[in-house]
Amino acid sequence: MNIVILLGAPGSGKGTVAAKLAAENANLKHVSSGDLLRGAVAKGTEAGKAAKDFMEAGKLVPDELIATMIKDVIAESTGDVTMLLDGFPRNVAQADILEKTGAEIRSVVLIDVPDSVIQDRIAGRRTCPACKAGYHVKALPPKVEGKCDKCGADLVIRKDDNPETVKDRLVVYHQQTEPLIAYYKEKGLLRVVDGDQGPEKNAEAFKAAM
Ligand code: AMP
Repeated sequence: MNIVILLGAPGSGKGTVAAKLAAENANLKHVSSGDLLRGAVAKGTEAGKAAKDFMEAGKLVPDELIATMIKDVIAESTGDVTMLLDGFPRNVAQADILEKTGAEIRSVVLIDVPDSVIQDRIAGRRTCPACKAGYHVKALPPKVEGKCDKCGADLVIRKDDNPETVKDRLVVYHQQTEPLIAYYKEKGLLRVVDGDQGPEKNAEAFKAAM
């Protein structure tokens, strides 16, 4: 099991179509910790119930909770798989947990985007609650306003995408996640991608870095 880690602030482009496509093109299995958690919340599992309040407040869920989910995905993956871990680890404690699984980290791709750009991006973000497709009112509008192109469901603003929560999520990122940049740089694994070049160039840059 090989792992490529995708590191970046909320709204940096981590969980976007560009990142998913780049993963597909580079033959990586895309695993998003946020998607795993949102799935658990939607299903009402014990883990989902435990995670919900933290997520809605823009805080990190407890390390063990998300680490258990990630370890399960790693354990289920047999054969010659390279996984793109999107959103995990989010702090040094989680990085230590990941290291103890014995999975080999191939590289860590940091998507670098200024906070001001992120705030604009998240303000326009819309999500399909049914099929999870992501849109943006300016950069990636749906064909029919407010409706998902793929399944026709009404698009929503994620609860943790409201401007106040976004500010909190950025604070959490700078305090807890940013130390991972130095952590992985020291191990010689860090690659930095400019995530503010427009969707097509972003996708190319993601792919080249993976
Ligand atoms: P994301 O979609 O990656 O922005 O994640 C949405 C939310 O899920 C975050 O704001 C956290 O509340 C939670 N979350 C996702 N990944 C992690 C993680 N590795 N550790 C703790 N909380 C996480």
